[in-house]
Amino acid sequence: MKTQTKNTFKIFWRHAWRYPGQAVVLILTIIAGNAADLYAPLLYKRLFDTLALGDGKAVASLVTVLLLILGVRLIHWLFWRVYWYTNATFYARVMSDLLNTCFEYLQRHSYNFFNNNFAGGLVRRVNRYPKAFEEIADQLTLNIGQAVLRVGVILAILYFRHWALAAIIFGWAVVYTAFSIWFSRYKLKYDAERAKVDTKTTAHLADTIANNINLKIFGGTLRETESFRGVTDELYRIRRFTWILGWSIDSVQGLFAVLLEFGIFYAAVGLWQQGILTVGDFVLIQAYLLQIFWVLWDMGRYIRRMYESIADAAEMTEILTTPHEIQDAPGAGNLRVTEGAIEFQDVSFRYHSKKSILKHFDFKVVPGERVALIGPSGGGKSTVVRLLLRFYDIESGAVLIDGQNIAGVTQESLRDVIALVPQDSILFHRTLLENIRYARPSASDDEVKEAARLAHCHEFISEFPDGYETYVGERGVKLSGGERQRVAIARAILKDAPILVLDEATSSLDSGSEQLIQDALKNLMKGRTTVVIAHRLSTIMQMDRIVVIEKGAIVEEGKHEELLKAKQGIYQKLWRIQAGGFALPPLPRRKKKQGV
Ligand code: ATP
Repeated sequence: MKTQTKNTFKIFWRHAWRYPGQAVVLILTIIAGNAADLYAPLLYKRLFDTLALGDGKAVASLVTVLLLILGVRLIHWLFWRVYWYTNATFYARVMSDLLNTCFEYLQRHSYNFFNNNFAGGLVRRVNRYPKAFEEIADQLTLNIGQAVLRVGVILAILYFRHWALAAIIFGWAVVYTAFSIWFSRYKLKYDAERAKVDTKTTAHLADTIANNINLKIFGGTLRETESFRGVTDELYRIRRFTWILGWSIDSVQGLFAVLLEFGIFYAAVGLWQQGILTVGDFVLIQAYLLQIFWVLWDMGRYIRRMYESIADAAEMTEILTTPHEIQDAPGAGNLRVTEGAIEFQDVSFRYHSKKSILKHFDFKVVPGERVALIGPSGGGKSTVVRLLLRFYDIESGAVLIDGQNIAGVTQESLRDVIALVPQDSILFHRTLLENIRYARPSASDDEVKEAARLAHCHEFISEFPDGYETYVGERGVKLSGGERQRVAIARAILKDAPILVLDEATSSLDSGSEQLIQDALKNLMKGRTTVVIAHRLSTIMQMDRIVVIEKGAIVEEGKHEELLKAKQGIYQKLWRIQAGGFALPPLPRRKKKQGV
């Protein structure tokens, strides 16, 4: 927590100091505004001392004092206007910068990172971050900073009236502030806990919203409502506890204030008796006491709020200070692909330390070859593709493209040369035109439409009232699975990359669309190295080579006919199951009815 707090301040400072001019104006206007406020009671003291003289001729000097008070108040007014104007520009700018930093850093985290973190939780952390900056900066400059400044100056002024007054206030302020800080620190761990439970609640909410269809089809609404209630109960308990802790400090503070007021006036009466203090001094003390109560009363809350914000920010700071899991090697160059050869050399890989997925895995695809990866579920086919895209780093061995180790080139250049059509294509809630163009932002409208035509998207897109300008809904939910898949194929066509990876690209298609897609894919595969994770016979049969992967190892490979010949082979078994599934049962012979 301590290092996270330090890091949070470092990050906030780095962003704030991008605008040093505005930061300095903010500090100076706070100082000037406070100086005016602190000077006013001295003028009131003069006013009352003059009044106490009871001299009717002193009117002129009374008016002078009143004019001075007016001047001080106007200066105070002016500085604060400048402060708030600068504040609006400065805070809005820094908060946007922080959001951008969070966005950029977060998006560069690995595939695995996003698998391990809920979208809702991440969104909340990002959103809280600039708010935490605003809160912390406000507390430090406007509230805590102002309090320190005011109390310091008040102590100095009262010291010149009589040291005892300053001593009482100083002693009181030290005990009071120490108590506030101790209490807020004590509360910090509960604030951190509250932030965690808060994030958990949002994450749960987001997860169940994303899974709403599962709630419906599995009758899970009641179950989920109950489990959500469990989380909110936890939130209720921790929130209630932290709030009660928060309010209990107010009661203690109230007592502190009463004691100070009594103590200082008691001392002041004694000093007045000795002729040291005047009537005006009582006005001065009263005005300063009010200012002290005003700035210090909320001091405890400011410190608490600052700690709360530090706790809120810590979650995002952790993300911002966690190195990206997959990083470009220092000085990594771009991958240059001329042929499109792929090679896995003695690759070992595991997701978790306990279970090894690939062990000394060797696999080669020659340029332009079309290879189908098949095998039982969980065998490691998708893992091979993920490693090719460097979504994960391997334990040992090397993955090479055209003889270049993919760990030594930039991730961007690697992913530039591979077009992936995933199993479940997710789309942005943007127009179809934008979604397809995502693969190549520089593509013209005509190029996008040509790709859509080749992927057989054009037919269904033209039927939408808004055509290519149709918004597809969050994650593309307004399209059918097959339509989404065709959009993904259109993207791959537009990307025009030398290596093509299809992950069950035809799984959501009816046989009519599948035929169309097969044509499109045939064209797409021409001249490209292609790796297909396939279950369907139609896909497999087009391939130059079939590789059967089981338990992270290649157990069979060859052409379709060769593998079929292998007695008791896995491929033969899979083929039989699928072919059996497709074959229609023989129709019962109908007897001809007589006389019809
Ligand atoms: P399928 O045909 O069902 O898609 P597959 O052959 O593609 O399966 P992989 O997805 O590569 O199999 O998974 C291989 C093994 O790795 C499985 O045991 C799976 O549980 C495990 N695995 C996959 N992804 C992860 C992950 N992110 N974290 C931990 N284990 C994982």
